[in-house]
Amino acid sequence: MIPRPWRTPRGDRRARSRAWRWYLLGSGLVGALAVTTQGAVHDALLSAVSCGSAAAIAAGTRLHRPQRAWAWWLMAAGMGAWGIGDVAYTVVYDVLGSDAYPAAPDVAYLLAYPLLGASLLGLARQARPGRDLAGLVDATILAVGTGLLSWTFLVRPALRTLDEGVLGGLVSATYPVADVFVLAMLVRLLSAAGSRSTSFRLLGAAAVLMLVADVAYQLSYATVGYDGSAMDPVWLAAYALWGAAALHPSMLRLSDPDYDAREDISALRLSLLAGASLLAPATLAVQLVLGLPLDAWAVTACSAVLFLLVVGRMSLLLRRNRSQAAELAALARTDVLTGLPNRRSGEEELRRHAAEAAASGGPLVVALLDLDEFKRFNDTFGHPAGDALLRGVARVWRAGLAGTGAVLSRWGGEEFLVSVPGRDVDEVEARLERLRAATPHGQSFSAGLARRREGETLQELLVRCDAALYAAKAAGRRRSVVAGGPAGSGGAGALVPAGGPRA
Ligand code: GH3
Ligand code: MG
Ligand code: MG
Repeated sequence: MIPRPWRTPRGDRRARSRAWRWYLLGSGLVGALAVTTQGAVHDALLSAVSCGSAAAIAAGTRLHRPQRAWAWWLMAAGMGAWGIGDVAYTVVYDVLGSDAYPAAPDVAYLLAYPLLGASLLGLARQARPGRDLAGLVDATILAVGTGLLSWTFLVRPALRTLDEGVLGGLVSATYPVADVFVLAMLVRLLSAAGSRSTSFRLLGAAAVLMLVADVAYQLSYATVGYDGSAMDPVWLAAYALWGAAALHPSMLRLSDPDYDAREDISALRLSLLAGASLLAPATLAVQLVLGLPLDAWAVTACSAVLFLLVVGRMSLLLRRNRSQAAELAALARTDVLTGLPNRRSGEEELRRHAAEAAASGGPLVVALLDLDEFKRFNDTFGHPAGDALLRGVARVWRAGLAGTGAVLSRWGGEEFLVSVPGRDVDEVEARLERLRAATPHGQSFSAGLARRREGETLQELLVRCDAALYAAKAAGRRRSVVAGGPAGSGGAGALVPAGGPRA
């Protein structure tokens, strides 16, 4: 009945991409047959679909070979436990005619929940490795909210049957708790895995259907006594979809990280969180309106925990805001190409140096450096090579200036500014000569230096630097010129050539 996709050769891509359809078709047929039958045959067919689902998950994992397969094997084990539970159910209740509760199937079923939950958690961790505090808080908010519902309407009624049989009461109370665990893990996966693949949707639908059927089963069991047949189509659909999720080729992408979701808290997520947070007051309201016995302590405790979690979530968002603002500020100060401080940041550093020098009475020297004939370099070797040279120049110059207190910034294009507090102009000039020798590819540069004068504005200082640079270019490039004359007098006569062309 159930196809055996694991028999297809691995190289056959078409078979790999079609297996899930054949499987769904097979499960659908067996499931339809199950719905139209009763008793042992019905239960046996149901078991066939759940065991088939486990086999499909195992087959999908072997077929598609996801990089980190362990979460899928856990899932196969969980569904396998479920299948064994269904088989045991058929044997214990239909074949042996027992009416014991709890019985062997409950052991298998109760094992299935942690395995399935752990597999969902595993996929979520693969999708978002490392610490995911936000995802954890969100899942906890949902677990606490639904946990209160579960406690009020399922666990407590089950515990009331303790006097009829301790073990039975405890087992009945464990099922809804296990549901909340699986739901919380599903939410973690939902918030972490974002590829939103078909496999993801199949898996999500399967888990939701399973939880719905489970809760409906427990509710009907607790209120009107069990008539499970109404829920059977839902179980069957859940089994089939679960298997299809693993057989679908997109299972390979299911645990891919969702980088968009990481940056944003989606409307769906926000409304889920809001809904979960409102479950506590809503429970109280329902109890008040229906005249049910109040569960004031449970509601109080859950409300308090939910408030704390929401505040915690807020602080996480604020923290992320702050770190993003810091990141943006750093980006706004940095030149993309060279990683040096950009012009804006270079000007800031210059103002800071000027203030320090004014306070200490020490010197402040500024130099403008401009690569020689750089246009020709670009024209000869291409723009990318020019970019690479600019990066190399920045790296070597920065290293060459390390320890001097100088700040090197990219002033624009192939022009750089060096601002050096506390050192005299000769010292800076000598340092520039060393940079000249170390510049990559034998690339030369011209420089204009100036020492700040008393009462001189930074603008005037930079104008003198620029004039000195101009003079260096005019004198044949490959040299530094120290601005000497009074500001504004300009002209080569006001400038003292220094260094001279290198051989
Ligand atoms: P001079 O010796 O007179 O300074 O000659 P030059 O060719 O260096 O000067 P010019 O101002 O004529 O040309 C500067 C060149 O720098 C032109 C431009 O293509 C290049 N340049 C500016 N910014 C970049 C950049 O980010 N990457 C690359 N590859 N080239 C750049
Ligand atoms: Mg140039
Ligand atoms: Mg230039």
